[in-house]
Amino acid sequence: MDKAIITIAPTGEDTTREMNPAVPITPAEIAESVYECYQAGASIAHIHVRNDAEKPTMETAKFIETCERIREKCDIVLNVTTSGDITAGDEIRMAHLPIIKPEMATFDCGTMNWGYSEIMYNSPNFLRKLGKLDQELGIKPEVEIFDFGMMDQAVNYIKEGILQKPVHFQLIFGTKGGVQYDPEMMWALVRRVPEGCTWSAFGVGRYHIPVMTQALLWGGGARVGLEDNIYYSHGVKAESNTQLVERAVRLAKELQREVATSDDVREMFKANMKNHYKGKEN
Ligand code: ZN
Repeated sequence: MDKAIITIAPTGEDTTREMNPAVPITPAEIAESVYECYQAGASIAHIHVRNDAEKPTMETAKFIETCERIREKCDIVLNVTTSGDITAGDEIRMAHLPIIKPEMATFDCGTMNWGYSEIMYNSPNFLRKLGKLDQELGIKPEVEIFDFGMMDQAVNYIKEGILQKPVHFQLIFGTKGGVQYDPEMMWALVRRVPEGCTWSAFGVGRYHIPVMTQALLWGGGARVGLEDNIYYSHGVKAESNTQLVERAVRLAKELQREVATSDDVREMFKANMKNHYKGKEN
């Protein structure tokens, strides 16, 4: 079984300091939180940024500052979002990629009604442009799957050559508008991960612990962090991103999974991840 990849998603788009004061917002806070999570065993950092009003943004300068600060502290694998602001146009969603050359970037594999209130646009045209840009720049896409049909779209993009195997999938359960969680549905989606590909999963909010446990049992990785879940347990807010990583690492070890380091991830993903720490070739 593959080593367990623990991804930290420290900030996200929607969680605020009012919801949980531990959410890191500024580039310095995000970098410090990621560094602590790296020391606790996280091997990939999934990065969103906020503007000075603490609102989600795709401002390239904020990504540059945040990623530089993280790279000064550690060699965690950087995975930047391309969906950090639901109102952003296609071009700004990709503008940071050629500058930062992160090792990974998200590829949200379809359009959905987000939170029953907004539309998360990922047109076929955008996804084809993003997939080609990732290949040109040596960025490994993290293919995010919020619902069953998105897996079919991913299989189509593999056939088209827009995504190249082995693909890394992030399976997401419990978003409003996406697939909810029960073990049978989760297993049905895991079974559809194409052969030879890797996967990780997370459940939003109350699904956090069951999805993490199933993922670690079934050979996947787990994503944790205040982007997805602001609680540690029922009614108790998480003290920090680190606390959530520490639990994931403990759980993985109890389930007899070896936890991947950042260099393990580089080795696992080297077929289509050409960028490296500080811009070196992998
Ligand atoms: Zn995200």
